[in-house]
Amino acid sequence: MSDGVVDMKIDPSRAKALSAALQSVSERVGTVAGGRNVRIVAVSKLKPAADILALYNETKLLHFGENYAQELMEKAAVLPREIRWHFIGGLQSNKCKPLTSTIPNLFLVSSVDSQKKATQLDKGRAELHSSQPSDSTLTLGPLNIHIQINTSGEESKSGVTPGSEATDLARHVLTSCPHLNLLGLMTIGAIARSKAVKEGEENEDFISLREERDRLEKELGEELKGRKLELSMGMSDDFEGAIEMGSDEVRVGSTIFGARPPKEDFKVKSQVEAGKS
Ligand SMILES: *Cc1c(COP(=O)(O)O)cnc(C)c1O
Repeated sequence: MSDGVVDMKIDPSRAKALSAALQSVSERVGTVAGGRNVRIVAVSKLKPAADILALYNETKLLHFGENYAQELMEKAAVLPREIRWHFIGGLQSNKCKPLTSTIPNLFLVSSVDSQKKATQLDKGRAELHSSQPSDSTLTLGPLNIHIQINTSGEESKSGVTPGSEATDLARHVLTSCPHLNLLGLMTIGAIARSKAVKEGEENEDFISLREERDRLEKELGEELKGRKLELSMGMSDDFEGAIEMGSDEVRVGSTIFGARPPKEDFKVKSQVEAGKS
């Protein structure tokens, strides 16, 4: 067991149920992916650390997504270092540095929506680099990021507007953030809209993200050095449609873990304490 990882009680029937739910999502992904590699991120926000450990132990799934900085930092501290954490929630500037500088196995931040936040993430990753012992077995590359695009234009959604705002942010990451790797684009989209999509119709948010990716790849040209940008789109209710429209990553929460409790009822620490025998 890695340093800092505590014993947690895992209920075997819960472990089996989680594993079966993931298996079913994987099969559905496989059916529509047509041989393309689509990453499944299990969104574990507001779910106990023991659920994550159970799913990791049973299935060796590595990719888990969290929405709240404090919750992610607490979970990362007690769970295996092999896990590749994704931060997918609303990002606050003052949380960027602590997130990156304290979680070596943070794999991807999907919700980057300003140059200021990108700069803070870059600084945090640089700090982590310089604090690693030179004989560390952990090889730390740059931190992957997605630029979050507000494809639905709703004020309540975060993300940059498609067009020059997105281009400027992408350029800032490519030229001024040496510890960040621009992996692609992410959208949440209007839930109402995806629910309203009928059989045979395409989701406008997904069309818009794909167009924005094509536009950016063209506009940034040389600066991308031939790299392709991936698309992160699709959640429990619409991941199959998203994959059909070219998604490279789906973020699936409730279909794997079940319905979430209200945020105010959730505490990582007390659950970890209670789980110790
Ligand atoms: C919560 C969340 C998800 C997962 O949502 P489900 O509908 O439970 O699958 C995916 N992406 C983001 C950004 C989220 O906040």
